Amino acid sequence: MEYSSVAIGERARRVRSSRDGVAPVWQEATVTAVIDETPDAVTLRLRLDAATDFLPGQYYNVRLAVPGRPRPVQRAYSVGSSPLPDPSVVDLGIREVPGGLLSPLLTGLRVGERLSVRGPYGRFTWDGRNDGPVLLVGAGSGMVLLMSMVRHAAHRGRGDPVVLVCSAITYSHAFYRDELAGLASSHSWLRVVHCTTRDLDEPRAHYHRRVDKAVLSESLGGNHPGAAYLCGPPAMVESVAAHLVDLGVRSEAIWTEKYD
Ligand SMILES: Cc1cc2nc3c(=O)[nH]c(=O)nc-3n(C[C@H](O)[C@H](O)[C@H](O)COP(=O)(O)OP(=O)(O)OC[C@H]3O[C@@H](n4cnc5c(N)ncnc54)[C@H](O)[C@@H]3O)c2cc1C
Repeated sequence: MEYSSVAIGERARRVRSSRDGVAPVWQEATVTAVIDETPDAVTLRLRLDAATDFLPGQYYNVRLAVPGRPRPVQRAYSVGSSPLPDPSVVDLGIREVPGGLLSPLLTGLRVGERLSVRGPYGRFTWDGRNDGPVLLVGAGSGMVLLMSMVRHAAHRGRGDPVVLVCSAITYSHAFYRDELAGLASSHSWLRVVHCTTRDLDEPRAHYHRRVDKAVLSESLGGNHPGAAYLCGPPAMVESVAAHLVDLGVRSEAIWTEKYD
C-alpha cells in the first residue's frame, strides 16, 4: 500500500488535522448503520463517543481485535460524510480487500458493535468554498473522501462548478452512484462523469475506459479548474496528474492522495 498526500511541486501546507495543537487520541465509536455501497464495499456509520471536528478529505485510524493476532490491528479509512451538521457522525466507506486482515472484519460489523478510532488526520482537504471551478477525480474507494467534499460543498451552498470524474470497474462498483445522480440533478454546479473499465455496454457510464486526457478535457468542457483533487491507486493518480499538467493545469493546484 502506498500513501501520499502532496500537491505536486508544493510541499508546504499546514497540517490542519492538528490545527488546534492537540494530537488525536483513541476513542470508542458505535456502529449505527451499515449501508451496502457496492458488491464489495459498505458504509459504516459511526457515532463517536466524543465529537471531533474534521475536514472533508481527512481520515481516521480504525483499530479492532483480529482473531489470532496478539494485538489489535489498525488501518486508515477516509470519511465519506460531511462534518455538517454533526461531526460526531462519521461515515467510513470500506472496500473488502480479499485476503486482507481488517477490511473483511469491518465490512462484517453489525449495528451496535463498538470499535476504536483515532483522528482525524490528513492534509488532503477541501472545504467546498466558492473558489472557482474544481475538478475531483476518484477511483474505487478513492471516491470516499471526494464524496465528503461534494456533500460538504452542497451543505455550504456551492455555486462554482465542480466536475467529479468517477472510475470503477463496473457501474455497480461506483461508490455513491445513486446519491451522486440525485445531487447532480438538483445542483447545477455539479457534473458527475462515470468511467467504467470492465462493463463495456453499461449505458450509465459516460466512458468505457480509463480516465485519459480526452476524458478529462471533455469532462471539464472549458471549466479550467483552479484546483484538482485526485484520489485512488498510484498509477491512476499519477497518469491523471500528468494529463492535467498537459492540459494546462498548474502543478501547484493538483492535490493527490494515493492508496490501493
Ligand atoms: C490515508 C488512507 C486512507 C484510506 N482510506 C480508505 C478508504 O476510505 N476505504 C478503503 O476501503 N480503504 C482505505 N484505505 C486502505 C485501508 O487502510 C487498508 O489498507 C485496506 O482496507 C486493506 O486493509 P486490510 O487489513 O484488509 O488488508 P491487509 O491485511 O493490509 O492486506 C492488503 C493486501 O495485501 C495482501 N497481503 C497481506 N499480507 C501479505 C503477505 N504477507 N504476503 C502477500 N500478500 C499479503 C492481502 O492479501 C491483501 O490483498 C486507506 C489507506 C490510507 C493510507
